[in-house]
Amino acid sequence: MPSLPSFDAATNKCENPHVVILGAGASIAACPSGDKNGKILPSLQNLETVVGIEHITAEIESSVGTLGAGFEEKYSNLITIGSHKQEIQEINDKIHYYFSQLELPDSLTVYDYLILGLREKDAIFTFNWDPFLLQALLRCSGVTKPPNIFFLHGNVSVGVCQGCKVKGNAGQSCGRCSSPLTNTDLLFPVKQKNYNASGFLINEWNALRDYLKYAYFVTIFGYRAPFTDVEARQIFIDSFGVNSSREFAEVEIIDIRERKDIEDSWDQFVFEQHYSVWDNITGSQIYKHFRRSCDAFAMASLQCHPVPEFAPDGISSVSDLREFARKLYAEENSGDKLWKDHKNPFGP
Ligand SMILES: [Zn+2]
Repeated sequence: MPSLPSFDAATNKCENPHVVILGAGASIAACPSGDKNGKILPSLQNLETVVGIEHITAEIESSVGTLGAGFEEKYSNLITIGSHKQEIQEINDKIHYYFSQLELPDSLTVYDYLILGLREKDAIFTFNWDPFLLQALLRCSGVTKPPNIFFLHGNVSVGVCQGCKVKGNAGQSCGRCSSPLTNTDLLFPVKQKNYNASGFLINEWNALRDYLKYAYFVTIFGYRAPFTDVEARQIFIDSFGVNSSREFAEVEIIDIRERKDIEDSWDQFVFEQHYSVWDNITGSQIYKHFRRSCDAFAMASLQCHPVPEFAPDGISSVSDLREFARKLYAEENSGDKLWKDHKNPFGP
């Protein structure tokens, strides 16, 4: 039996989570012409050249023969062969170092909209190795209670304490036992990914399963759900499939691919026609109903009383977006209406 999401008509508030899934496209959108210092964000297509590991793979190929076309195939075959442990470690270290050097541009990015536009009940899951999500969390801190963040392929900015099962900023100490946090392993593009291989990843993927069971809105940003990643696809489909409110829930996909390709990717995930496709963040429910995404969707679809959009239009700096979010957050907690033109405050 489908069940309605948790919605309080007295306060216009929906407590079900908004779940965001980020792939490479989100980080490309955050720094289309390079990071703060002009460093290029590598893709799997140009990773060897950008990171400077071509000579290592070429040397291995001189002894074992061709490893394949592109980094993904080469790396996967290298793991299957099972030799060259030292070279593999060197490749891993160089990639880790390159990504750890990347910095979010000073200008307003999609990551700032996500951190400030979602609430504490919401969650962001990223496949990206780059440090942008955590950097955005830090520069947007002190304004609101931010959404929860998770790293599905490991991340260069995240360290863990295995003993305490705590995660934090790489390079810092565990808040409980003061031991230095250890770097998370990056999950490299092998054919047979094992998301249950490490304690850190098990936790992140379990969180994804849990959140998808209760999500009322899902935003998929720049993630292709490749058919080669059978395990990940199945976790998405199975977890959202048992969401008892899935028939009422909505999925939005922010992607610049052809619509047909996007629909092929997500056909088994979405419920009937309950999805929309956008080519940038300003089409997103998160942007149009800042900090009120699920609540506004519930008003429109459950209450048949759509509320006008309230978006940070015209805002062009991180500090101004922080101020916009700060006022909305104050309104959430006080129940007072702080803007005369905001038609979706909480409270009677
Ligand atoms: Zn600890």
